[in-house]
Amino acid sequence: MNQAEAKVIVIGGGIIGCSIAYYLAKTGTETVVIEKGNRVGSEASWAAAGILACRASTRNPYAELCRYSLALYPTLAKELQTVTGINIEFIQSGVLCIFLTEDEKKNWEGLAQRRLKHGYSAEILSSEQVQTLEPSISKKVIGGVHFPEDAQVRNPRLVKALACAAAKLGTKFLTGHSVKQFLFDGNQVVGVETSEDRILGDQFVIAAGPWSHQVANFLGVALPIKPAKGQMIIAETVEPIINRPIHGLETYIVPRTDGKLWVGPTVEDVGFDDRTTLSGIHQILESAIQLVPALAEKTLLKTRAGLRPKGKGKPYLGRLTEYCNVIVASGHYKNGILLAPITGKLIAELITKDNTSLSLDPFGVNHNTFSQQGGNEQKE
Ligand SMILES: Cc1cc2nc3c(=O)[nH]c(=O)nc-3n(C[C@H](O)[C@H](O)[C@H](O)COP(=O)(O)OP(=O)(O)OC[C@H]3O[C@@H](n4cnc5c(N)ncnc54)[C@H](O)[C@@H]3O)c2cc1C
Repeated sequence: MNQAEAKVIVIGGGIIGCSIAYYLAKTGTETVVIEKGNRVGSEASWAAAGILACRASTRNPYAELCRYSLALYPTLAKELQTVTGINIEFIQSGVLCIFLTEDEKKNWEGLAQRRLKHGYSAEILSSEQVQTLEPSISKKVIGGVHFPEDAQVRNPRLVKALACAAAKLGTKFLTGHSVKQFLFDGNQVVGVETSEDRILGDQFVIAAGPWSHQVANFLGVALPIKPAKGQMIIAETVEPIINRPIHGLETYIVPRTDGKLWVGPTVEDVGFDDRTTLSGIHQILESAIQLVPALAEKTLLKTRAGLRPKGKGKPYLGRLTEYCNVIVASGHYKNGILLAPITGKLIAELITKDNTSLSLDPFGVNHNTFSQQGGNEQKE
C-alpha cells in the first residue's frame, strides 16, 4: 500500500472541505483533501439551492457567524474569478418571502421586526407591493417581507472554483479515496488509511458532511450528526417569470441568470436514502405552483437530491477534546453554502495560528449553549 504525507488532511471534498482547503492554501499550508466520490462537491453541496439566507437567525453567536460569512462572499467571488476564471455568480439579489395565511404573516413579520431591532434590513410589503415587485406571484398571496441582504450563489461552481484555486496553490485532491480508519502512534492520531493508500499527517479535519458521524466513529467518538434529505427540481423558462428568489410555503423558487429555475427543497428524515421520489417532487411542485402559477407551464429539466448534515441545532467547529489534532467542521444543515467561507477561514486560522478571529467555543461538540437556548433558527 502506498504511503504519502501532508501537514493537514481534510476528510471530505464537499463545499466545507474545499473551502477549508482554499483558506489553508492561501497560507501556504501543505494540505491533502480526501474525497470518496469521483469528483469534489458531488453530494449536498451540489444539490443545494445556493441561497445565502443571512436572515436565518437573529440569535448570536449563530447570527454573527452567518453575517461574517456573507460579508466574505464579495471578496471571495473576485479572488476565485481572478485565480480560476470561474464566475460563481454571487448576486446580492435579496429574497422575497411571501405568505398566504395570517399565521404565516405573523411569523414572517415577527422575524422582520426582530431583524430590524438587531440593525439588519427587512421590508414588510402589502399584497399590492408584492404584485408590483413580482407580477407572476399568485393573487392569493396576502403580503411579503423582502430581505435585501440575502443573496445567492451558483454552489456547484463555487465548490469547483474553491477546489481549482486550492489546487493551483498546491493542495492535493485525492478523489475516489474513501477514509476507512485512522492510524495511531499510541494515543496520537498520525494518519489515515483510505481505500487506496495510507497518508500520514499532523492535523486532521473531519468535513465529511452527514458521514462525519461515521468518520468520527473510527475514533470511537460519537458525533451527533445525521442526514436530512432534500430534493430539488430544475425547470427552464424562455422568458424570466420572477426577478429574484421567492420563498413561501417552505419552498424556494430561485431564478438563475441562464433562465433556469431551481425549485425546492423537501426536508426528510429518511436516513441515507438519497433518491428523488414522486412524493417529494409532488410536494415541491404543489407549493411552488401555488406561489407562482405560471411555473406549471415551464419545462421540467432535472431533479436532484442531497443529504444535509444535521447536528443538534448548530454546526460543529473545533478540536475534538479526545484528540486535539483532529478538528470537526460539519453539521451545517440548511446553511452550509452560506457558512462555507467563514468555516474555511476560521478552521484555517485554528490550524495555522491556534487562534480564531471569532470564538469557536460555542460551536464545540461538547458545548451546550445552543441546546440551552432551545436551538437556533436554521433556515435555507
Ligand atoms: C436540497 C438542498 C438544498 C439546500 N439549499 C441550501 C441553500 O440554499 N443554502 C445553503 O446555505 N445551504 C443549503 N443546503 C445545505 C448545504 O448543501 C449543506 O449544508 C452543505 O452542502 C454541506 O456541505 P459539506 O461539505 O459539509 O457536506 P457534503 O456536501 O455532503 O460533502 C461531504 C463530502 O465528504 C465525502 N465523504 C464522506 N465520507 C467520506 C470518507 N469516509 N472518505 C472520504 N470522503 C468522504 C462525501 O463524499 C462528500 O463529498 C441545501 C441542501 C440540500 C440537500
